[in-house]
Amino acid sequence: MAKFRRIGILSSGGDAPGMNAVVRAVTRKALEQGFEVVGIQNGYHGLVFDETFPLTSAVTDSIITRGGTILYSDRCLEFKSAEGMAAALETCKKHQIDAIVAIGGDGTFRGATDLTNHGIPTIGITGTIDNDITITDYTVGFDTAMNTVLDLVDRLIDTCESHARCNVVEVMGRDCGQIALLTGIATGAVAVAIPEIPFDEEAAIERIKKLRSEGKRGMIVIVSEGCFNPDGSKYSETLAKKIDAETGIETKFARLAHIVRGGSPTLRDRLTATQMGVKAVELLVEGKSNLVICEIDGKIASVDINFALITDRMYKNKLKPGDLDAFTDEQVAEMEAICEKRRREIEDYYKTSLDVTV
Ligand code: ADP
Repeated sequence: MAKFRRIGILSSGGDAPGMNAVVRAVTRKALEQGFEVVGIQNGYHGLVFDETFPLTSAVTDSIITRGGTILYSDRCLEFKSAEGMAAALETCKKHQIDAIVAIGGDGTFRGATDLTNHGIPTIGITGTIDNDITITDYTVGFDTAMNTVLDLVDRLIDTCESHARCNVVEVMGRDCGQIALLTGIATGAVAVAIPEIPFDEEAAIERIKKLRSEGKRGMIVIVSEGCFNPDGSKYSETLAKKIDAETGIETKFARLAHIVRGGSPTLRDRLTATQMGVKAVELLVEGKSNLVICEIDGKIASVDINFALITDRMYKNKLKPGDLDAFTDEQVAEMEAICEKRRREIEDYYKTSLDVTV
């Protein structure tokens, strides 16, 4: 069993609702284990430039209800250099930080591996609204973001109905279309465009014309921000103009953007964040590190960060020569199975979205 004096917590990369619930859970579980807890501000920047403060039970009181992250978040290029790492290790020494929990995405986990390799056992927790980390079925923030989209699109539907309009809505998700796809189904969108599956624009426009001829007044089309025109510009705005021009239906455009990243986390995010935070501290206490906390088939689990990062690259077709060399054939087969599961999941949802938009 590992004995720590202090555990540090940081949030890094894009923020997500539920990060505060992770901070609260890690803090309280660590305190329960008899450790002190240090909040590291602005992600790895706080580690490099010594921006820390004590986290107590009182400091984490009520933060479970708040979006954003009380630790703040930032990107820190300096951390990737040898000098930056040396400064980070100095901060750990100065504040007696023996282990770290880092909340974020794949960039954050690369930093976690570097820290572990330099003698600070670190564990990652997946926090991003995009649900785009291949190894886990769920990332903290995803449910809240989707419910925010739901609320906003429901409002747009009201006004579309009144004025017999169409509204194309662009939602976040980076390269991952899950927010678009799931909210498209849940809002009754007439079409959904995501980066993973070719979008049949002609069929969508024909469907909109047919639905209008049958009397449908308000219509919503959801487009993921990861969809681009061949010239690199955003597809969402182009599609809105095309629908307007080709159907004669007045079509508005809305980009929900960062509004979807804020707000009080849903029950799902508070619960999962709490379970993941507790699990991270338990694993550190067991002497484990360089792991990412995941949800797999409904259970909180942990996976080696290197395995997680390479599986992610495999899914995103970004494998570099030699990436698989450190893994056994069984591990590579496991990675392929995970990628296949992810692809099937997206295809199944996409099929469902088409099944209900006739
Ligand atoms: P996310 O964690 O959401 O993917 P980023 O990719 O921006 O976000 O990464 C967040 C931070 O993690 C970076 O600003 C940097 O400090 C650290 N980081 C990213 N990539 C690496 C890397 N290859 N090695 C060490 N640290 C990294």
